[in-house]
Amino acid sequence: MLSVSNAQATILNLVQPLDNQRDTEIVDLFAAESRILATPVTSPLDFPHWDNSAMDGYAVRYEDVQHSSAEQPTVLEIIEEIPAGYQPKCTIQAGQAARIFTGALMPAAADTVVMQEKTRREENRVFILAAPQSQEFVRKKAAFYQAGTQLLPAGIKLNAPEIAVLAAAQCANLNVYRRPRVAIFSTGDELVRVDEPLQPGQIVDSNQYALAALVRESGAEPLLLGIVKDEPVALSKVITDAGAIADIVLSSGGVSVGDYDYVDKILESLGAKIHIQAVDIRPGKPLTVATLPTPSSPSSPSSPSSPPSPLYFGLPGNPASVLVTFWRFVLPAIKKLSGIRAGWEPVFLKVRSHDELRSDGKRETYLWGKLHLIDGVYEFHKADGSHSSGNLINLAQTNALAVLPLGKTLISPQEEVEVLQLIKP
Ligand code: AMP
Ligand code: MG
Repeated sequence: MLSVSNAQATILNLVQPLDNQRDTEIVDLFAAESRILATPVTSPLDFPHWDNSAMDGYAVRYEDVQHSSAEQPTVLEIIEEIPAGYQPKCTIQAGQAARIFTGALMPAAADTVVMQEKTRREENRVFILAAPQSQEFVRKKAAFYQAGTQLLPAGIKLNAPEIAVLAAAQCANLNVYRRPRVAIFSTGDELVRVDEPLQPGQIVDSNQYALAALVRESGAEPLLLGIVKDEPVALSKVITDAGAIADIVLSSGGVSVGDYDYVDKILESLGAKIHIQAVDIRPGKPLTVATLPTPSSPSSPSSPSSPPSPLYFGLPGNPASVLVTFWRFVLPAIKKLSGIRAGWEPVFLKVRSHDELRSDGKRETYLWGKLHLIDGVYEFHKADGSHSSGNLINLAQTNALAVLPLGKTLISPQEEVEVLQLIKP
């Protein structure tokens, strides 16, 4: 059986990121939040665009004011007032100053700004009460960035700081990667939709909803294909249809060793290549990972110009297994596919455990719970109730998974534990 880390490496190796030519779209900057930049951004502008003042005060010539003090202030004539957004008209001559405000353009021949607090005003004269540094409080043109230098590289996620940079560089429309397309379906004769009455033996298909939410949170687009019976013909059709429209296909159920677990057999019959059939993890052992034949040319390996083979995840049916295997294996794959150039792997934190954590030591074990901040230190609290993979209810409010590595049977209260932090990517 494959170890969790080998399974992660195998999966990430199979993922081919979206293409920076074929798989992009233009979005308005207001709709760019959380999207992945597909083209580096270079600004035609210098930052700052012009020499400007960093303070409210007086624009002066340093040589005029360098010996100023409270006892012997320099007195300058104010020849102009320059608010932000206006172009100064005058040139500062010896003995002159301009009233200036933060962000306003420096007038010609002035090289220094004296902050207002170090001056005294009398009508059109200003008394400079302290000697400034030469060029103090002047933001020089191009001091931060020069036109032509790269502002943002491709492959980064756009959050508020990046969006502000793009706005400043006048990029109103952006080239971003399209959202990865993730097809989702549930398998099982026992499953009904949320709006159907439950007959004896039936359960609600909660996995479809959980997966749709997880996929959406990851920045990808869920394509919902519904519930499919444990029946080879129906399964064949839905897998073929899913492979034709999606980059990643997620099914839940039907990958175990039961008589009605058909998924792996059907994948083989469709010419898919199965890379993983079981992983040393609890919950989530019966995990199938396969590459589907490329939609355009079944059975032939994809050429560089054709889209890559869709990646298939046959997740186990148990609701807890679905969530854990998504967080541990599917999310990193979606991240890599999305065009993000680094940081695909899950983030693990070392924290203190509030509770006793147990495992049989035979598989890498993930226990769900919540991180609480206690006096500035994170503490993991295991969810109450059963940690059976069939128990969905106590997963609510989970924000971390504690990990007990292979061979580890006990973590005592107050001991250190590694947790997988479940933050929105
Ligand atoms: P399976 O992997 O198909 O053997 O399913 C394992 C367990 O998960 C069974 O108890 C199923 O009833 C349950 N299960 C399977 N699919 C779903 C689903 N879509 N939503 C909720 N529970 C499911
Ligand atoms: Mg089943």
